[in-house]
Amino acid sequence: MEDYLVRVIAKDAGVRGFACWTTNLVNEAAQRHETQPTATAVLGEGLIAGVLLGALLKVQQRVAIKFEGNGPIGKLVVEGDSYGRVRGYVQNPDVDLPFKLGEADTAAAIGDLGAMVVIKDLRLKDLYEGVVPLENGDIGRELNFYLNQSEQIPSAVQIGLRLDEQGQVTAAGGLLLQALPPYEIEMVRQLTDRVEEMPPVAELLHSGQTPEDLLAQIFAGIEFEILEKRPLSFQCDCSWERTRHALITLGQEEIEHLLQTEGQAEVDCHYCHNQYHFSADDLQLILLELDE
Ligand SMILES: [Zn+2]
Repeated sequence: MEDYLVRVIAKDAGVRGFACWTTNLVNEAAQRHETQPTATAVLGEGLIAGVLLGALLKVQQRVAIKFEGNGPIGKLVVEGDSYGRVRGYVQNPDVDLPFKLGEADTAAAIGDLGAMVVIKDLRLKDLYEGVVPLENGDIGRELNFYLNQSEQIPSAVQIGLRLDEQGQVTAAGGLLLQALPPYEIEMVRQLTDRVEEMPPVAELLHSGQTPEDLLAQIFAGIEFEILEKRPLSFQCDCSWERTRHALITLGQEEIEHLLQTEGQAEVDCHYCHNQYHFSADDLQLILLELDE
């Protein structure tokens, strides 16, 4: 099954809902970053968070989410956009902790001391930045806390994934409910409670339920409309040209040093591990440009 996100609205209840299946993009990210099982789960949950926050954006807007905790994974950075594209990385892809109750212990990998930072490019003059202290390192819970406390929009989030014994992701996805003004807080509370009371989303997806099934359960007995179903992908916007710009910002001295010591440059993208090669001639051209 391809990765996708479903967007629904329950107009009378004043609630919008999103659910996604992201198993392929999480496996692709794990392959690209050669992550160990716990790191796969952390990166995967982060990417699902990126998909869900991205779904809340308008055309051309982007969001970045950073988790900086005191756990062994170090930093988790993901970026998402309104078109269903996400990318991300963890600082330490080799983290592999003992499983807890049959699940990867992502909360321990992130840690309970630190911050979650959300940066949004809403195509305005300034970037929006929201920071919340970490509660316990559980990505779904942290996202929930952020939406309710920092953005102050009644919301409910579930994020989850399942790994098999080889560390392959067999099911990954998430669910997000959010109040849409004008709403009735009682109705919103009833629905967000349903999200919190339902079995873990990873378990439901693993048992064969689809994102549509999850939403149908949440909105049972309430009129809702499916607005959109859109594909999701792991996609990085790096390129040789962009990498060249990044090299230029290193400055003349650094590039001369590279040229003398390596005779070339290999640049690896943090987000996707695509490699970009710059020959001695390429570097000489950059130096000429810097000299002008
Ligand atoms: Zn890249």
